[in-house]
Amino acid sequence: MSASFFDLRGKTAIVTGSNTGLGQGMALGLAAAGCNIVAVNRRAPEETRRRVEELGTGFLAVDADLASTAPIDDILAQAEARFGGADILVNNAGIIRRADSLEFTEQDWDEVLDVNLKSLFFLSQAFARHCIDGSRRGKIINIASMLSFQGGIRVPSYTASKSGVLGLTRLMANEWASRGINVNAIAPGYMATNNTEALRHDPERSREILGRIPAGRWGDPEDLAGAAVFLASSASDYVHGHTLAVDGGWLAR
Ligand code: NAP
Repeated sequence: MSASFFDLRGKTAIVTGSNTGLGQGMALGLAAAGCNIVAVNRRAPEETRRRVEELGTGFLAVDADLASTAPIDDILAQAEARFGGADILVNNAGIIRRADSLEFTEQDWDEVLDVNLKSLFFLSQAFARHCIDGSRRGKIINIASMLSFQGGIRVPSYTASKSGVLGLTRLMANEWASRGINVNAIAPGYMATNNTEALRHDPERSREILGRIPAGRWGDPEDLAGAAVFLASSASDYVHGHTLAVDGGWLAR
């Protein structure tokens, strides 16, 4: 295997939720491998823009609230207009709501499922049609979770959505592998981002979590960059329907 297996020069990746956190870490990793970035966000991704442009690749910000599927066609249209299309889709945007299951509200159920699962599926569908219609290879990377494998506590809609992401990753791979599209997922472990702020500030939960991570630290957004480049590149052309844990060893315990 040569380094060129991981070369993404001339490719374009759509990365949702890339103004901060893991999405920003993966966007920067893909840009470092030469990829143009279409950053899809509900807030201006100025820091990501600056850091991608410093790496010397193209950057386009698309405003979109993925609480609904309404913006999906426009995301593909803007990628097409600016870069001639997209080769990679990273479905990263996601939210979490914490409450006891006895108290959990329908609103907290619907809001999480809409962003984490429904928009992920319909954006993947639009991207797959774009690839097939344009006779181009495609790479879809979904962001799963430890709660794709485990039950979790006080996060019912999040667990349902992330378990669903693992299942949909397999389903989409089964349907689209023969059409030249790789669908895989990354399951991050416990990473230091906004998503885990409440956990990291709860002394008991944070001690319990850290004590179980063999690597002995929370993960950082940069920890996902290598896995994202692998799954976006030709190095993973025969990898389909897999969910790759990047978790400091959490699942091995
Ligand atoms: P984060 O810092 O909260 O980032 C979440 C991203 O999703 C932000 O860019 C956020 O935008 C965006 N987003 C949320 N709702 C959106 C919407 N309706 N439309 C468009 N964008 C939206 O948390 P993170 O940890 O980086 O999370 C990234 C992904 O990793 C999520 O899918 C999360 O479930 C998953 N994950 C995280 C961990 C962890 O330990 N941190 C572990 C496993 C999986 P705003 O900045 O505008 O809110």
